[in-house]
Amino acid sequence: MVTHNTRRATGEILPRTYGLMLQMPGNHNLFVTPMAFALAQIQLERPGEIRARIRDWVRRNGENVAETEERLKKGIGNEREREAFLNHSRQPKSDDRLALKGVRHLGAAFKGDVKSRSYGTDDPDKVDYHHVALHHPSANREIAIGFPYGECGCEDSRWNSYKKKSVTAECVHMAALEIALATDVASRAPSDKNITGLTPEARKIYLSRTSTLAHPSLPFTFNFFRSPSDCNALQLAQHRMLTDMFMTHFVKRKGHYELNCKALMHETLFSPALLKALAHPLDWAQFAVLRQDERTSAPESPAEDRLYGSITEALDKIDARFQKELGFVPVGNVRELVGTPWETVAIRYLEKRGHGGTGLVYSVCTREGIPPIIVCRNLEHKTGDLLDSKDPQPRVHPFARLGKPFFSRDDATRRMSLTRIILPTERGEGKGINVSAGLADVYRRLVAEYPAS
Ligand SMILES: [Zn+2]
Repeated sequence: MVTHNTRRATGEILPRTYGLMLQMPGNHNLFVTPMAFALAQIQLERPGEIRARIRDWVRRNGENVAETEERLKKGIGNEREREAFLNHSRQPKSDDRLALKGVRHLGAAFKGDVKSRSYGTDDPDKVDYHHVALHHPSANREIAIGFPYGECGCEDSRWNSYKKKSVTAECVHMAALEIALATDVASRAPSDKNITGLTPEARKIYLSRTSTLAHPSLPFTFNFFRSPSDCNALQLAQHRMLTDMFMTHFVKRKGHYELNCKALMHETLFSPALLKALAHPLDWAQFAVLRQDERTSAPESPAEDRLYGSITEALDKIDARFQKELGFVPVGNVRELVGTPWETVAIRYLEKRGHGGTGLVYSVCTREGIPPIIVCRNLEHKTGDLLDSKDPQPRVHPFARLGKPFFSRDDATRRMSLTRIILPTERGEGKGINVSAGLADVYRRLVAEYPAS
């Protein structure tokens, strides 16, 4: 019997955000997203700078100023949230509404307190300022982007990865301190006129008594403080990309995942260091999805309830087969069938001793209307446009592509790969999972409905 308030896991992964996983030496990765750096920038900007963005956006989009401001306010939240986000800004300033304060360089870390946007909501656990620490990066890493060992007390920085590597998911607060440091390094403004209040000497990262490590690059290009009228053509494009993300998020209520997917198709957003990491033959930078949750559904019939049970059972069997028999491990979430109506957040399996580069990878895809299928990729060279990962056959149903290999670019690594879509029930590929009669029926029906085209 199905009780109507019982929700069932469906196996479908819901994304939280999308960005770049930067591989660092040792057992630690850094995950960065354009949205975190866009919102951190707004957090540091003065009310006048934010108003200039709003005016520019309204003019370009032919919107009504008063109406837009009203929707923006509503989108940001209550009065205290708006105050925290729009009216707190960077040093130097005459009042005490600071977005970033108390910056110090202690031992091997930069520390500071970043104004919390959600302070003033009903949650009593919310704090006024988040305490942030950015630990010195290792001197021998291949990509000098960001501070891989960051800490923040906020919820966004807490994230459970697949256990292979630990990950710092850089939140708005860590990004704010990082932007402040990078801006001061670039401007060389004296400590009473810069953002962190640190002198050049106090900012130095010492490796020994005599040698220092250069400050890391920012991942994206749009973190600078300049009014649109002072921008050259390239800066204006970058300035507007950030404005669009900020405005679309709050005015049009688009989520981080969608906005990051869209932004990361534009080369103007990527710093030279990030582009280099992306093109590196060992895949130092890879595109990745952070998962939010698994979609649940309230089944409407006992058959539907059993089907969801069969799907999660099949996923467990696929996982066991990969891990115990084939020596592949789940390494995270990636996008598959990109740009098609069947685009899915999949689980990526990599050979246990694989180090990136070429070779076999598998993605297990499940979504509404599509029972678990496996996208098998033989990764080859990186080629052409690194920012394009759209599926070459956007209109062909995945089941119509069974047994028909095709070339496509892997979203995570942007490597060209001979791609095959296979059913987990298929033998020969070494999977041959047994599934329930009900699920086997769904596979049969879809195979019949979408013959190979
Ligand atoms: Zn945080």
